[in-house]
Amino acid sequence: MPKLVYLDYNATAPVRTEVIEAVDSALRQGGNPSSVHGPGRAARRLVESARDRVAALAGAPAERVVFTSGGTEANNLALRGCGRRAVLVSAIEHDSVLGATETPVRIAATPAGQVDLADLERRLTAIDGANAVVSVMAANNETGVIQPVLEAAEMARACGALVHCDSVQAAGRLELEPLFAAVDMLSLSAHKIGGPPGVGALLLREGVELAPQICGGGQERGRRAGTENLAGIAGFGVAAELAAKEIERFEELAELRDRLEAEGLAAKPGAVVFGKDRPRLANTSCLAMPGVRAENQIMALDLAGIAASAGAACSSGKVSRSHVLSAMGVPPELGECAIRVSLGLATTRQNVDRFLEVWTGLAEGMGAAA
Ligand code: PLP
Repeated sequence: MPKLVYLDYNATAPVRTEVIEAVDSALRQGGNPSSVHGPGRAARRLVESARDRVAALAGAPAERVVFTSGGTEANNLALRGCGRRAVLVSAIEHDSVLGATETPVRIAATPAGQVDLADLERRLTAIDGANAVVSVMAANNETGVIQPVLEAAEMARACGALVHCDSVQAAGRLELEPLFAAVDMLSLSAHKIGGPPGVGALLLREGVELAPQICGGGQERGRRAGTENLAGIAGFGVAAELAAKEIERFEELAELRDRLEAEGLAAKPGAVVFGKDRPRLANTSCLAMPGVRAENQIMALDLAGIAASAGAACSSGKVSRSHVLSAMGVPPELGECAIRVSLGLATTRQNVDRFLEVWTGLAEGMGAAA
């Protein structure tokens, strides 16, 4: 059996060995961080040490970190908990932002895959900023396109709006410090950086307070009730520390990604890479092979032992039309032929070669190359 070629890091990154060890050790240690006896105090120390590490990833004070059950809950907590009535979100946000409140105003996206700042400005002039929150992600999960968060934040804050940034795909890939310094709330998720799934965090600027959305306990300084996920949080802390150390190596992935795109585009007339002329995460490529539906590409790749993804349709396992590509004005018949390939630090030249072998085989109408 050839080894699996995993090219779906934006869906989830393989859990780091060091994280597995930390999770295992925390589970064995046990203890409720709220208990005052010895095991409780030891569990508390573990949670607080992880909080320090997660805070350090974004240059935030530790006491401004609220642990959650993941990026989805962090996004919900931010947009529901901040109490602002007008919620403005870019049209290319993750579903956990788009669906967090009932009637968000969607800010348009440009054809290149960035939030349209002119549209944001227009919409800000039509509302009472003091009662608004604006949510713009750091980098898009489907296209990898990096968003003009600093500019959007400046515009929003100038009229009194709060600013939230979903930085789930940016952690370990872009410097988070400037982002945290520019916004009021920033979301993270452990499993995108080699931590365990089911744990994340919302980081709050000094002075920003929230109404808890999970109630019935004083944990997390009253911002999120429930006994802490000790093992998950311990694993998140280790993953955050490793991500901070390895961030410089991330840019090296651009070389592999660019070769994948150049050879992929050459293999099929009319093939497109979305967001190619914008700053992008070095690991992400959203590319369409006209005439071959995404699910057929994904199946052919899967049969050849390669894991990639059809856009962001990861939540239900079904392949649906990408709202990101639709917002960018991509025609449905092309959007339906787009897949997402996302690399990680363990991706090798051979992995990319294998992908190209199968993908170009498919482009030539030969099915998956053997
Ligand atoms: N935000 C973005 C941009 C994501 O890519 C994801 C996961 O795919 C999430 C939020 C949700 O994070 P989680 O899976 O931890 O709930």
